[in-house]
Amino acid sequence: MKPSDAFSDRATVEALVSRAREQASRLDRPVTFMEVCGTHTHAIAAAGLRRLLPQKVRLISGPGCPVCVTPVDYLDRAEALAALPDVIVCTFGDLVRVPSSCGSLEQARARGCDVRIVYSPRDALAIAREHPSKRIVFLAVGFETTLPTVAAALAEAESEGIATFQILPGGKLIEPPLRALVTDGDVQIDGFLLPGHVSVIIGSNAYTFLAEEFRVPGAVVGFTPADILLGVSELVQQVLERAPRVANLYTRVVRPEGNRHAQELIARFFEPVDTRWRGLGEIPGSGLGVRATWAHRDASTIEVAVPEPREPGGCRCGEVLKGVIEPPQCPLFDRGCTPDAPLGACMVSSEGTCAAWYRHERFGAGAAA
Ligand code: SF4
Repeated sequence: MKPSDAFSDRATVEALVSRAREQASRLDRPVTFMEVCGTHTHAIAAAGLRRLLPQKVRLISGPGCPVCVTPVDYLDRAEALAALPDVIVCTFGDLVRVPSSCGSLEQARARGCDVRIVYSPRDALAIAREHPSKRIVFLAVGFETTLPTVAAALAEAESEGIATFQILPGGKLIEPPLRALVTDGDVQIDGFLLPGHVSVIIGSNAYTFLAEEFRVPGAVVGFTPADILLGVSELVQQVLERAPRVANLYTRVVRPEGNRHAQELIARFFEPVDTRWRGLGEIPGSGLGVRATWAHRDASTIEVAVPEPREPGGCRCGEVLKGVIEPPQCPLFDRGCTPDAPLGACMVSSEGTCAAWYRHERFGAGAAA
């Protein structure tokens, strides 16, 4: 058995479900835990974990999918850049299908704009080498997990003197939205399942403020069913003991201090800026802008006409991203909005909450044990 198999083993999962049920029976009230990672959202839905958990334990999804939280005005600007004759826009695949104010990047491509799907920022850099007469704009959307790869591509462009490679900064930090969510008041959150990938970069110590300032429990967890159930069990235990802390249950890859090299790489090219999130609005210091030293790499300085931002009519992604509603509570869920024809951002990426519910949970909603 590979070490990782132990975390998907049926007997292990059943034992953890039994433990969570026993713990929950000692709770004097229902509790709500939020995951803030798109991969967790997908993993929870795909494994049917919501239906295995006791009724007193509710799992909700937060703003963890980078495609979903990217605001519509960012997409509008990307489309405007793609319309310039000397620009090639490079992006991860999901973003091309997210509705913008006037269509989508996919529709812009159909109109003849040069929009290319890449698998990494270095792929975009390779396109810059192949097309020296074009400006290459990479859509740098993502959390702390993705930004080191963007920074590495910028470093490579600098060392090779590739002046035509730029990024449209859309990176986001995880700490500010966590602070916004615990102080928001729209949803009572009794604990967080903290994101495994992001934590590899920033370290588990980055979340101690949750317990110390807000007395909210936290658990850094991996992505197998056993990882997630261990996290749920840990959060229930912290609630029972009234002793909030941040437990690192993903020590296979997450260190308390994180990855210092990656942190330094991010800090070399980026600095915190105020930025907008779909659903959460503007959060101070929650984005990563390009440092002034590297302004020549910043495509947001290119002047283009951008329309007044307009969200898709009737879409309730904002409430989904804050955990205020579950996807089936949106009147458009499976009634006009599906992964094949998404009306909102949360239905586009497989890590989006609406897409995860549609694919795995739409026939089992409300069937908790
Ligand atoms: S179901 Fe579609 S329209 Fe409704 S919130 Fe989700 S993405 Fe938006």
